[in-house]
Amino acid sequence: MKLTELNLHHFRNYDEAQVEFSPQINVLIGENAQGKTNLLESIYVLAMTRSHRTNNDRELIEFGKDAAQIKGNVQRELGSLKLELDIGKHGKKAKANHLEKARLSEYLGQLNVILFAPEDLALVKGAPTVRRRFIDMEFGQVSPKYLHDLTQYRDILKQRNRYLKQLQSHEAQDQLYLEVLSEQLAAVGGAIISQRVKFLSELEGYAQKLHQSITQGKEKMTFEYSSTVKDAATLTEVELSEALMELYQQNQAKEIFQGTTLYGPHRDDVRFLINQKNVQTYGSQGQQRTTALSVKLAEIDLMKNQTGEYPVLLLDDVLSELDGARQTHLLKTIQDKVQTFLTTPGLSDVARNLIKEPRIFHIRDGQ
Ligand code: ATP
Ligand code: MG
Repeated sequence: MKLTELNLHHFRNYDEAQVEFSPQINVLIGENAQGKTNLLESIYVLAMTRSHRTNNDRELIEFGKDAAQIKGNVQRELGSLKLELDIGKHGKKAKANHLEKARLSEYLGQLNVILFAPEDLALVKGAPTVRRRFIDMEFGQVSPKYLHDLTQYRDILKQRNRYLKQLQSHEAQDQLYLEVLSEQLAAVGGAIISQRVKFLSELEGYAQKLHQSITQGKEKMTFEYSSTVKDAATLTEVELSEALMELYQQNQAKEIFQGTTLYGPHRDDVRFLINQKNVQTYGSQGQQRTTALSVKLAEIDLMKNQTGEYPVLLLDDVLSELDGARQTHLLKTIQDKVQTFLTTPGLSDVARNLIKEPRIFHIRDGQ
């Protein structure tokens, strides 16, 4: 899929902008604080309905204005599609071909994007929340079922945690109600873990190939799903739900004492290993960088396989973070197939030689 046109109205430092893009590589060049990342962010927000760098939608609205609007034309294999996102101070509206989509699961997936920024190194180095968010955002884009299960899981988890707190403070006594909530949570929790394991194993296959070729076969990367359920990766969905239920039953007193749910996919993590060693603890900077790059690039293949089309790739300032060999690798992977937007203060010689017919945009002060 390709984003052919973008219109911004009162978005960050863009008062008004209308841009037509190349279906291949678009290079956004400009000095610091001119609006390069803002433009990438607007594409990300149009696709995902939320920003990758803030949870506060108000920050997206131009200073002094009441509402922002992002509109885009998307060219897909089956035809073209108009997306529109209106962001007000008290909420937002997402429309596809002028029809409002009230549910996220109805809207997501129409424009698939993958964003890669220097912060993505945190995927390897950061806390488990970063990796869970990564898994949930990426798999949610390709699977409405996953997104639906996740929303349900979060709702039940909230209720269950609230009830555990009431039991803790003796405001509530009814253990039977806890049992009901546990069963509901275990049912959806098992489904989520089982989908994660399946997606991760597909992603691992693609990432492995990329990693091997970047490291010229010297390193083997593997993924390991780490769960509060023992041996989760070997269990079926039903077995996972049963195992979770067992954990809730065995640890009831502990969960009531702590007033929170201690088991389930909201506590799980994924580990990236190189030659069987955890990259987070043992990897060098370079290994961590290569791992993050391989995992991110693997998503391109995963999305293509799951949806039939390549996603749009957003690269924020990453070329300068990579050495020549890795830049070459990245550019070769995307060439001719993936529409790409990349921001940079200036192109390196490697990039100049590898990018065929880029469309270059010079960005200054939101223009
Ligand atoms: P760098 O190369 O440093 O990453 P950049 O071109 O990517 O720079 P952006 O992050 O796109 O920079 O833009 C930053 C500019 O946008 C800042 O000057 C900031 O003040 C401005 N800005 C951020 N939010 C808003 C807003 N809501 N309204 C108006 N301007 C904003
Ligand atoms: Mg920037």
